[in-house]
Amino acid sequence: MHHFQYKGDELFAEEVAIKDIVAEVGSPVYIYSRATLERHFKAMDDAFAGAPHTICYSVKANSNLAVLKTFVNLGGGVDIVSGGELYRALAVGVDPKKVVYSGVGKRDDEIAYALKTGILMFNVESEQELDRINEVAGRLNKKAGIAIRVNPDVDPETHPYITTGLKKAKFGINIERALGQYQRAESMNNLEILGIDCHIGSQLTKVSPFVDAIKKLKRLLEGVRDMGIDVKYLDLGGGLGIQYNDEAPPLPADYGSSIIEETKDLGLHLLFEPGRNLVGNAGILVGRCLYTKQGEEKNFVIVDAGMNDLARPALYGSFHGVRPVVRNQSGVIEGDIVGPICESGDFLVKDREIPNFQPGDLIAFMSAGAYGFTMSSNYNSRPRVAEVMVDGKRFEVVRERETLADLVKGESVPTFL
Ligand SMILES: *Cc1c(COP(=O)(O)O)cnc(C)c1O
Repeated sequence: MHHFQYKGDELFAEEVAIKDIVAEVGSPVYIYSRATLERHFKAMDDAFAGAPHTICYSVKANSNLAVLKTFVNLGGGVDIVSGGELYRALAVGVDPKKVVYSGVGKRDDEIAYALKTGILMFNVESEQELDRINEVAGRLNKKAGIAIRVNPDVDPETHPYITTGLKKAKFGINIERALGQYQRAESMNNLEILGIDCHIGSQLTKVSPFVDAIKKLKRLLEGVRDMGIDVKYLDLGGGLGIQYNDEAPPLPADYGSSIIEETKDLGLHLLFEPGRNLVGNAGILVGRCLYTKQGEEKNFVIVDAGMNDLARPALYGSFHGVRPVVRNQSGVIEGDIVGPICESGDFLVKDREIPNFQPGDLIAFMSAGAYGFTMSSNYNSRPRVAEVMVDGKRFEVVRERETLADLVKGESVPTFL
């Protein structure tokens, strides 16, 4: 469910006509719906109402301050994967005690920053990282809360690039070695063991892999408790999928009830790190058709948005729904919607039936709220696009379109040239 719907032949974001936003802000532009963000957060939060829990939104899915603030206002924490994400979350007043820090490559300065901030815990992804966090904490005279991110070797049955919980993945510590690492952590002076963590992948469309992972974690938990370690948190990561096309992911309520059923006797505070599920369908990317072209074998609609603005189709072959911002096209064609980037991989839509767009038409690429703007780049020296948030009848720019001057910010020609 989202708030991007037609009124007559015009596509609206909540109560604002999208063509009015583009008239003011230009294209391409990302547009987010506050009501949709809030609805998705509450659905996830309500799904776990029966258990002590915290929703730690995964910042990397969409790190705009407006999005972060929306969730912080609702009591959310965050899951971060860099010092930069911590900086963003602090900028909107997140409670440090609701911050968990994941990622395989934490630097010393990032660890120190998180320790000074007083985050809840580090999700430790390797044996060496455990030593490093202990060392940095010692230097700062702090105790670092930690969980070990366990790799449970469960197949989430999703795209290989977003599968993270199989043995061959770079993430986490193999579940068979995890107990030994808890023992090692217990012997370190500057660590406080707080939890067990896993994150098995993204865009999951079934509950069963989550349940399989929990079953494995429960065995580990027993071992950890047998060593006399008092674990308080069970962090189950993110990963719940959304509907892009014809997927039918479980509702948050079903995901919630299965997980509560599986964990209710453990006496643990549950943490979740949803990203895509909260923001994916709460955002769209709007671009304008510049040209159409009938190739020898194919039709192309060329738009002003490209793979640098929305990388998912090029990166994963992902599907994004397409809707005309004003429905006045006659008929449909079969073909690709492509961007201006000089790469054949630069497509937003491939080999699909699409409205017969004409130059000037505005096109909404749906479900672009997650891993859209955050993965965008300046490739081909294209300024990154504006972001807008809509709230009922009003909207505001929440990130300005970059200027040409922004493109060369920080660059210089050396004195010897
Ligand atoms: C990316 C990521 C998430 C969020 O994944 P979604 O599929 O967007 O919910 C959560 N936790 C960790 C550790 C991640 O890397």
